[in-house]
Amino acid sequence: MNILPDFRTLRPASLSDAVAALAVPGAEPLAGGTDLLPNLRRGLGKPETLVDLTGITGFAAISVGADGTLRIGAGATLEAVAEDARVLASWPVLAQAASLVAGPSHRAAATLGGNLCQDTRCVFYNQSEWWRSGNGFCLKYEGDKCHVVVKSDRCYATYHGDVAPALMVLNASAEVVGPKGVRLVPVADLFVESGAAHLSLDHGEVLAALLVPPATGWTAAYSKVRVRDAIDFPLAGVAVALKRDGNAIAGLRVAMTGTNSAPLMVPTDALWGRPWNDETAEALVQAVRKVSNVLKTTVAGVKYRRRVLLAVARRQMDYLWNGK
Ligand SMILES: Cc1cc2nc3c(=O)[nH]c(=O)nc-3n(C[C@H](O)[C@H](O)[C@H](O)COP(=O)(O)OP(=O)(O)OC[C@H]3O[C@@H](n4cnc5c(N)ncnc54)[C@H](O)[C@@H]3O)c2cc1C
Repeated sequence: MNILPDFRTLRPASLSDAVAALAVPGAEPLAGGTDLLPNLRRGLGKPETLVDLTGITGFAAISVGADGTLRIGAGATLEAVAEDARVLASWPVLAQAASLVAGPSHRAAATLGGNLCQDTRCVFYNQSEWWRSGNGFCLKYEGDKCHVVVKSDRCYATYHGDVAPALMVLNASAEVVGPKGVRLVPVADLFVESGAAHLSLDHGEVLAALLVPPATGWTAAYSKVRVRDAIDFPLAGVAVALKRDGNAIAGLRVAMTGTNSAPLMVPTDALWGRPWNDETAEALVQAVRKVSNVLKTTVAGVKYRRRVLLAVARRQMDYLWNGK
C-alpha cells in the first residue's frame, strides 16, 4: 500500500454544515474509514476533501419512537448496533449482521452508514496501483475495459456489505439528507446494480439515519460464508424474514449480498401460503438462483460461491421454520 495521498479534512458538527461541505466538487464523506482509507492507500480515488461525519452531534444516536420504529443514526458504530439491548431484543437479525462484519477492531470504528455505502469489490480493482497499471486498469476506475466480463460496457464489481440485506428484510428505510432537503428511501432503493456506480445517492447527499419498523410476528436471521471466519467479507450472505401461520408461510422476505453489484431482494410472493417442504425449498432455491449473478470477482471460485449462496438460503429458511 502507498502512504495516503494529500487531502484536506473537515469535521463539521452539524448535518447541514456537512451537506454544505460536501457540495464542493472533490469532497467525499468519511466515517470510520475502514473501507475508504485502505482504498485511498491503494490509489483508488483522489478526493480533495474528506468530510469527517463522526463529529456531527447526534449522528450516532439510537432510539425507539412512540410508534415502535427504531431509528439508528448512520454514524452509530457496528459494535454499538450489535450490542444495543433494544436491537438485540426486537430486531436481532440486525445485531447479528452487524456482529458478523469484519473483526472486532473494525466494528469499533466502522459505522452503519459506511457499511451500507461501502465500495464494491473486485479482484481486478482491490489491488495496488502498480498491479492495476500492469493490467491496463479497469472499467471501474481509470480504465476502459472490464476484465471480468470482457466487452461489457458496465462494471461487475460485487457488493459485499453484510448489513444491507438484514435491513432490507426488515423493510427499513434510509433518511437521506442533501442540498435539496431530506428524503426517505427504502433501503433496497439505495442501490443500483452497477459495480462502478452502485449507490443511488446524488453528489453531496449523506445517509443520515436508518428507520426500522416494528417486526412483531416476524422471525429473521442472517448468515454468511467467508474464507476466514474471524474477519472477512461475505462470499455470499442471505437474510431471511419469515412470518408463519400454522403450517403455512404467511410472509417471506429474502435478500442477498456478495454475489451481485448490489444487495438484492429475491421475489418470494409465489411461496406465500405454501408449507415449507422440499418442493417449496426448491422453488426458493430457483428464485435465488434467478436473481444471482456470480462472476469471477473474488479469489473464491464462481461455482463454489453459487452453491454456497443457494445452500445458505435454504439452510436459513430451514432454521427459521424449525426454530433451531
Ligand atoms: C479486512 C477488512 C474486512 C472487512 N470485512 C467486512 C465484512 O465482513 N463485511 C462488510 O460488510 N464489510 C467489511 N469490510 C468493509 C468495511 O470495514 C465495513 O463495511 C465498514 O462498515 C465501513 O464503515 P466505515 O464507517 O468504516 O466506512 P468508511 O470507510 O468511512 O466509508 C465507506 C464509504 O461510505 C461513504 N460513507 C460513509 N458514511 C456515509 C454516510 N453517512 N453517507 C454517505 N456516504 C457515506 C464513504 O464516503 C465511503 O465511500 C471490511 C474491511 C476490511 C478492511
